[in-house]
Amino acid sequence: MGYVFVDSSKVIYYFGPDLEPVAFADPGDVICFETLDCFSNQISSEDQLVTDIDFSRVNPATGPIYIRGAERGDTLAVKILDIETSDRGVIVTAPGYGVLGDKVRSPRTKICEIREDKFVYFVGKGAVHFVGLRLSYRPMIGVIGVAYDEKVPCGVPGKHGGNMDTKLITKGVTVYLPVFREGALLGVGDLHAVMGDGEVCVAGCEVSGKVLVTTSVFKEKFIPWPIVETDEAFYLIVSHEDINKALYEATDLAVKVLQHSLALDWDEAYMIASMIVDIQISQLVDPAKTVRARIPKDYVSLPKIFEAFRES
Ligand code: CA
Ligand code: ZN
Repeated sequence: MGYVFVDSSKVIYYFGPDLEPVAFADPGDVICFETLDCFSNQISSEDQLVTDIDFSRVNPATGPIYIRGAERGDTLAVKILDIETSDRGVIVTAPGYGVLGDKVRSPRTKICEIREDKFVYFVGKGAVHFVGLRLSYRPMIGVIGVAYDEKVPCGVPGKHGGNMDTKLITKGVTVYLPVFREGALLGVGDLHAVMGDGEVCVAGCEVSGKVLVTTSVFKEKFIPWPIVETDEAFYLIVSHEDINKALYEATDLAVKVLQHSLALDWDEAYMIASMIVDIQISQLVDPAKTVRARIPKDYVSLPKIFEAFRES
């Protein structure tokens, strides 16, 4: 098994059909992505406002990496081995941004320090320090995606992944992405030291850092949208401009998976979905909103999920 390192000078701003790979990896290789924050590290002090930065450089993703053997119609599995972040993070607001953008009067920037807190008993994990408050450090990946048939900015989530801003995408989980182009062309960026579901003000604690992953390729296994696997559950991740469409499609997919996995008729699957599936919000503030349907592993397995989507 090899090791592939991609430094943060190799970035893309779009997941499109004609990306050029900056490195090649075999399935099983460990890949280290060095990532910039979502502002390309343009903000380093509280007097720098998000309205002053160069917007052509927001939402970079490091990569893309060509994964040997991945072809259209396959599924790429990306296991997140580790995430390391910078020790300073940025959070911003600006008029018109976020869920309550109409209430924001002027842009504002806050710097967060990320460090172990020597004044509390528990040390070792670190914490995010924001205006004198100590927040739990929960590093996660905002942008993870592959080359797509259309040129989509890295700030927009979709079937190829991208800016899903899903706080579950953290150390230990596996992200499954549909492959559209030869080599998949994997890109990663936009780390957050901590973020809540919804990402209501438009940002998390935005940090640069490093992400270690390893990949595998499931040949001729199709999934319509990204899936995240944790120890307890599978999450079907769906994004649409209209959140109601995302909620509809995530629910529809969950029912389909349950119908197939448990050999139920559609009405029965719809009913069991109502009893065991959790529909959750990932983010409400990107150009497409992201939701997820959580199905506990008691009821589904990865092979059954692939089977459910085989005919679609
Ligand atoms: Ca983001
Ligand atoms: Zn971000």
